[in-house]
Amino acid sequence: MTTPKTVSLVGSTGSIGTQTIDVVRAEPDRYRVIALAASTSVAELAAQAEELRPDVVAIADASLAPKLRELVPKGIEVLAGPESLAAVATDADVVVNGVVGFAGLSVTLAALYAGRRLALANKESLIAGGPVVQRARRTEGAEIVPVDSEHCAVHQCLRGNPIERVARLVITASGGPFRGRTAAELADVSVEEALAHPTWSMGPKITVDSSTLMNKGLEVIEAHELFGQGPSGPLSGPQGYDRIDVVVHPQSVVHSMVEYTDGATVAQLSMPDMRLPIAYALAYPDRAAVPWGTIDWTTLGRLDFEPPDHAAFPCLGLAYEAGRAGGDAPATLNAANEVAVAAFLDGLISWLAIPDIIKETLDRHNGGTLETSEDVVEADRRARERARLAVERIAT
Ligand code: MG
Repeated sequence: MTTPKTVSLVGSTGSIGTQTIDVVRAEPDRYRVIALAASTSVAELAAQAEELRPDVVAIADASLAPKLRELVPKGIEVLAGPESLAAVATDADVVVNGVVGFAGLSVTLAALYAGRRLALANKESLIAGGPVVQRARRTEGAEIVPVDSEHCAVHQCLRGNPIERVARLVITASGGPFRGRTAAELADVSVEEALAHPTWSMGPKITVDSSTLMNKGLEVIEAHELFGQGPSGPLSGPQGYDRIDVVVHPQSVVHSMVEYTDGATVAQLSMPDMRLPIAYALAYPDRAAVPWGTIDWTTLGRLDFEPPDHAAFPCLGLAYEAGRAGGDAPATLNAANEVAVAAFLDGLISWLAIPDIIKETLDRHNGGTLETSEDVVEADRRARERARLAVERIAT
């Protein structure tokens, strides 16, 4: 028997984290979880440690450390504090970054600078920290295998094909719960409606992002960062965005496509199940030995495609604008979006105000470059401050 691949699971109690544990449970001899980390869910983290027996567990909220020490089995090291999430991201063969939001940046950078494979579900770190993450990615041994379903699909469609022969990427979008509604019909949507995703089961932040199409906008930038490397590739630079299209596909079975210069389009299909991209990122370049999301062609019926409605979902266009602008604009977009979505979930602003907050924050930002992770943190902080002011003004 070969030695198991070691896995460090950061964000272990969230949606990606618990599904990663499903994948590990399905092939228990293949993987060994050596580290688990969460931000605040101490009881669930301890229960996972009891089952998986990692070497180390980490909790970002340092006040919960005594409780965690009390609950975990003897012999497991306990780390605490915000920097502990990155501290457990350096030793494993594969580091799964399932942290929600901008807080995942330090985990992404730690894993890449340690020369590890990063199974990246935290798209915000790549989007906000683009230039800084690209530098970390050049570390010997470092690689990113995307866990986002669309980018996992593109990763699969690119295998064995020359990147210079890519004509365009076609990123599919489910359209979210409000597909087909006009801007006027979206004025009074509730938090509950925005959280009722038709095809995917995900955390609340990304589910709201999906309802505004901001998730797709962030994924366009993510695709550009992941696949647009190098000075001359077809997806590189601001003009690379002209070759990344979004198509609405309500069944969420075609997870994305790559069109080549000869006119051929290669697509990846499976039923929507995040455990497939997770299993792919763990097993790559091999594949999982157990199925996730197998298609039953006798019941699938049909696959529909339509263009996105930019008027009803302006977040998508805002993301293209920020992506083309580059520098700190994607970080600004991401931070403003996080603030706006949190305000919507707290009942402070309407769903329609989400793009207004983001647009105002982007319009007021001066534009700058990102050289270090401190620059990214500072761009993020400034954008949050401006977005909070916009929220305060609107939330009367
Ligand atoms: Mg996705």
